[in-house]
Amino acid sequence: MKKIGFIGLGNMGLPMVLNLLEASLEVKAFDVSEYAIRNGEDAGINMVKSLDVLIQDIDVLITMLPNDSAVNDVFLNKEVLQKIDKNTLIIDSSTISPEVARKVSMEAAKLNLSMLDAPVSGGVKGAESGALTFIVGGEETNLKKAQPLFDIMGQRTFFAGKSGSGQVAKLCNNMLLAIHMCGTAEIIAMGVKSGLDPFTLSEIMKNSSGGNWSLDKYNPYPGIMKEAPASNNYAGGFLNSLMLKDLNLAEELAALSDSSIPMGNLAKQLYEELNQQGLKDLDFSSIQKNYLD
Ligand code: NAD
Repeated sequence: MKKIGFIGLGNMGLPMVLNLLEASLEVKAFDVSEYAIRNGEDAGINMVKSLDVLIQDIDVLITMLPNDSAVNDVFLNKEVLQKIDKNTLIIDSSTISPEVARKVSMEAAKLNLSMLDAPVSGGVKGAESGALTFIVGGEETNLKKAQPLFDIMGQRTFFAGKSGSGQVAKLCNNMLLAIHMCGTAEIIAMGVKSGLDPFTLSEIMKNSSGGNWSLDKYNPYPGIMKEAPASNNYAGGFLNSLMLKDLNLAEELAALSDSSIPMGNLAKQLYEELNQQGLKDLDFSSIQKNYLD
């Protein structure tokens, strides 16, 4: 498992590749965007010009793509599944619908290919520091083969179940993330408007029963955490457009499983409004902007 092909050098893919290179693996990468290609080349990554070249002579193919249509495009329209060597392990770390994950992995299985859905949690910081959590669906035997790579790019791996289960767990997680980010933003603002210092209030809630990941690692209020997107005008990170995509996928999952999600629906509505305000390219903690005067 030494030779890796990597597709999708965006906010997450680029630092993931840098960690694989740091671990002395041989990596080549492909992306359709000029911006991503330039970033990859500037970082010293071997950027190849076509998918056909990328999939030649590799042990593992990792994809880190934005959505269902990009995953469909790469694996089905561009016939990567048809063309790739049958011994290559395929790992899709994009967050997509469980349905598409299952469909692509069924097509892979028909061609005797091994495929895992392995979406990640931990954000760009987690990708940079090799601290991602991998949430895996598929065959456990394939997970064992992929584990050394997950250990390089991440700190924790969870096996969620059969193909598509990684995506189901990831969507559950992200809907909960949206809910607690929205709640955290509005409540810090309420405290500040009631005369509290935002740092002091955050410290109190972080260490009390209101504590959550947003307060702990990703405070949405500007100036509280130097490293958080909130302290950098909400640039980079996990974009509002991607959060809305995940909330739409989670809503579909709720409909398919006949689940009631009133809080999730409200979070989705708030992220829809944020995207409509023209903020789709800001980090998802920019929901705080709705509550800043
Ligand atoms: P991104 O938009 O920054 O990067 C995606 C990259 O894929 C881009 O460079 C794009 O040009 C490339 N791409 C799109 N279609 C392609 C195609 N057909 N062929 C080749 N390349 C193609 O997105 P990101 O923030 O890196 O997120 C990637 C995935 O990881 C998404 O599914 C997202 O939901 C998920 N994710 C993101 C974060 C985060 O904090 N950003 C955290 C966890 C999971």
